[in-house]
Amino acid sequence: MDVPPPTNQPWFRKADLSKVPNIPPRKAVDDCVKGAPDPNCAWSCTGCTRPTDFAFCPKKGDWGLSFDDGPSHSSTNKLMDYLDTVPDVKASFFILGSRVVEFPETLLRTYKAGHHIGVHTWSHTALTTQTNEEIIAEILWTEKIIRQVIGVTPKWIRPPYGDIDDRVRAIMTAYGYTPALWNRDTNDFTSGTDKSFQLSWIPANFTQWVSVDAKSATTGFCSLEHDILMKTVSVVPQNVPILVKGGMKPQPVSTCNGDTNPYQTVANDTAGAAPLSGATSAGVSSNSSTSASASSANASGSTSPTATGGASTIAGGALGALVGVAIAALTFL
Ligand SMILES: [Zn+2]
Repeated sequence: MDVPPPTNQPWFRKADLSKVPNIPPRKAVDDCVKGAPDPNCAWSCTGCTRPTDFAFCPKKGDWGLSFDDGPSHSSTNKLMDYLDTVPDVKASFFILGSRVVEFPETLLRTYKAGHHIGVHTWSHTALTTQTNEEIIAEILWTEKIIRQVIGVTPKWIRPPYGDIDDRVRAIMTAYGYTPALWNRDTNDFTSGTDKSFQLSWIPANFTQWVSVDAKSATTGFCSLEHDILMKTVSVVPQNVPILVKGGMKPQPVSTCNGDTNPYQTVANDTAGAAPLSGATSAGVSSNSSTSASASSANASGSTSPTATGGASTIAGGALGALVGVAIAALTFL
């Protein structure tokens, strides 16, 4: 993504960042020295986790079912059409704020169907490469637009690429977030670029995990899939029955981790500005298309986050202010 999301805004809650360690941003998600010590616990380098991380369901038989990078109109709705046929199966969806601008109705449908909604940042950036302020912006802008659409504030977050270290963790914690990783990767995302990738590998992996891995495991699992590609979504109706027939209980990561209310009771974006008005699901949903088109013209050529930010603009309750920033940020997927 070549346009950064908005940086710090006056309406961001001023969380206590005194426990955020002074770790310099890394150069890239793969900026790792093989075999070197990992004092900062960068999962994307070494697989290091801290007790505050979720990486798999703790109870044997539980299966965290998670989808990243949506919402997408065609593929997420296709997935929802399927999941509607298996009402006992709910999943976690980790959402990109910039895509909510395009498809708020799809996010609302997903939430209303009983699925769990979490943050996946605004621009799908590798968070350990960002400054503290940039990380906060990635999280809180996404939180804000999600809340505008579904009316609740997420509590769970999945760092893109699993790119988290102690600095990123501390910022997430300061804003009330639980980071969610995974321990079974379908690699479905590579099917979008790798011509040799065979979709049959995905259900084959699930079969392997259920019939072999889960037999000897003492804990549950968590799988990673994506709902932005039609072809990978097309095999989910194979994957879920494999889990269920294998004795697994697919469920949101929050559920298997015992979190009965996976949303924050206080939003992080109201300090320093009046609370958002009219942030009901229906209001935003019905207005979103006109807001988007109107703001698209206004935002063209504007890559300055501050051009559309500002407490007074946001406090006005218009999704268009968010959209204005988002339109400039929609070039990455
Ligand atoms: Zn992702």
